[in-house]
Amino acid sequence: MSLLAHSAEDPADSRTYLLNNGTAHRYHRAVTESVTRISAKIAGTARPFTGITVDGLAPTVDGVDLDAPLHDAAAALDELEEVYLRDAVYFHHPRYLAHLNCPVVIPALVGEAVLSAVNSSLDTWDQSAGGTLIERRLIDWTARRIGLGGLADGIFTSGGSQSNLQAMLLARDEACRRELTRDGTSPKFSVRLEQGGPLSGARLTDVLPRLRILTSECSHFSIRKSATLLGMGAEAVITVPSDGNKRMRTDELAAELARCHRDGLIPMAVVATAGTTDFGSIDPLPEIADLCARHGAWMHVDAAYGCGLLVSRRRELLSGIERADSVTVDYHKSFFQPVSSSAILVRDRSTLRHVTYHADYLNPRRMAEKRIPNQVDKSIQTTRRFDALKLWLTLRIMGAPAVGELFDEVIDRAADAWKLLHDDPRFDVVVEPQLSTLVFRYVPGADRDPEIGDRVNLHARDALFASGDAIVAGTVVDGRHYLKFTLLNPETTLEDIATVLDLIAEHAGAFLAEQPQPALSAR
Ligand SMILES: *Cc1c(COP(=O)(O)O)cnc(C)c1O
Repeated sequence: MSLLAHSAEDPADSRTYLLNNGTAHRYHRAVTESVTRISAKIAGTARPFTGITVDGLAPTVDGVDLDAPLHDAAAALDELEEVYLRDAVYFHHPRYLAHLNCPVVIPALVGEAVLSAVNSSLDTWDQSAGGTLIERRLIDWTARRIGLGGLADGIFTSGGSQSNLQAMLLARDEACRRELTRDGTSPKFSVRLEQGGPLSGARLTDVLPRLRILTSECSHFSIRKSATLLGMGAEAVITVPSDGNKRMRTDELAAELARCHRDGLIPMAVVATAGTTDFGSIDPLPEIADLCARHGAWMHVDAAYGCGLLVSRRRELLSGIERADSVTVDYHKSFFQPVSSSAILVRDRSTLRHVTYHADYLNPRRMAEKRIPNQVDKSIQTTRRFDALKLWLTLRIMGAPAVGELFDEVIDRAADAWKLLHDDPRFDVVVEPQLSTLVFRYVPGADRDPEIGDRVNLHARDALFASGDAIVAGTVVDGRHYLKFTLLNPETTLEDIATVLDLIAEHAGAFLAEQPQPALSAR
C-alpha cells in the first residue's frame, strides 16, 4: 500500500480525509505527489492532443465504478492518467491555436493552491476577512486602470458571460428605474425606488417589452443569451452591422438609436466589444460613448478578450473605455490566469444595489448600515471562489508590465502571421488583426465550386484535430466556413504557425484529391 493510501475500512478513518491540523502532512504528501505528476506531464507533452474520439474515450470513463473507491490517491492518479490526463487538450502547447484559452502563469497557480486549501468564500466578510479586502483592492486597481473614476466598483465573476449578464441586469434596472420615475404615475412606487435595492416586479412588465440592447453583429452570444435570461427576449437585441474591419459602424448605430426613439422604444444599453471573439476587433469606443451620452443609453464595454491591453504597451487601443458605465474583463483570457477569473466593473457603485438582497442568516441590512463589506451585496452569486487571489499573486510576483509583455508578444506574432497568410496564395485571410486572432480559409483554386471550399476547410480542421498535431478553431464569415487561429501563447513561434499552415494545406490537398475533378463541375 502506497504512502498515499488510507485504510478507510473503519468509518472513523473517513475523518483522515479531512484537511485539518492533524492531517496537514497527508495533504502535503498527496498534493506534492499530484504536482510532481502534472509537472512531468506538462514537461513531456509532445502534442496538444492525442486525437482521441468520444467513442474511444467514453468506455474508459464509463468503466470506472464510482461506488468502489480506491482508498489510495496514487492509484486514483494512475487511473486519472487513463481517464483524463493522457487525452486532455493542453493549452500550454505552442500548437494549440484554437480558442481564447491561455497558458497560465505560475504565480496564479500558487494562488490556486492556496485559495482551495483555505477555501474562503467571498460572499461575506465573516467567511473571508482579508480575502474580501484583497478582492476589493483588485477591483479598485482594475477600475483605475480603466479610468472609471472615484465612484467605481465591481465584483469578480465566474466569467465573461456572467459579467455580461450582470451588466445587462444593471442596465435594465437603471433603464426601468428612470422610466418609472419619469412617468411617476405611482408616487408610492417612486418612494420605493428611491430607497434603493432591487426593483419590484410590479410595473416592470410595462417597460420590459420596450427595452432594446444595441450591439454589433460580431459581439459575443452571451449578450443575446442575457437578454433572454432577463426576460426581454432575444428580439430585444438590435444587431448593428460592422465595417470591413469588423468594428461596429457608428453611423448605423446612430440610425438605430434614432429609430428606437421614433418607435417609442428605450435603448437601454449599447454593448461595445473591445476585442471581438472571432476577429479581435475593437469597436470605436469614443464615438460609441458620444452616442450613448446623447441618447441616455448605458454603455457597456465587453473587454473579455481585450482587457490585457490595460497592462500592455498598446493601452491606447482601449481609449474611450473610461467612459463606460460597465466593463467586462476576463483575466482568464489575456491576463494568463487559470479558469475562472473574471470581473465586472461599474462606473457608479450605487447601480450595484440592483443585485442587493438581504438575508437574515447571511447579510442582514444592519451589517450594511455598519459598513461591513459583504461582497454578496454586489454579486449574482452567493458562495464564491477567492479567484482574486490568483491575480493578486500574479501582480505581487511578476507584476502587471510582465503580463502586458506576454500579451503584446502574441499580438506582435499575430501581425507577423497575418503577413505570412496574406502572402500565401493557398490562403485567404479576412482582416488584419488588432489583437491576436486570424480568420482565414484554404482556397481550393479559383475554378472550384465554393461549396468545396467549405467542405475542404471543415475537413482540414477535423483532420488536424484527429491527428492531435495542432488544434485550430473554425467560424463562419458571410455564410462561408473559415478557420481561426487564436494566439495567446508567446511560445508559439512563426515557424509553428507556418508548420500548421502546411499541415492544413496537406489535409486539404488530400481531401481535394478524392473529389471529382473541377472540370466535371457544372460552370
Ligand atoms: C470569451 C468571451 C466572452 C465570454 O466569456 P466566458 O469567460 O467564456 O464566459 C464574452 N465576450 C467576449 C468578447 C469573449 O471573447
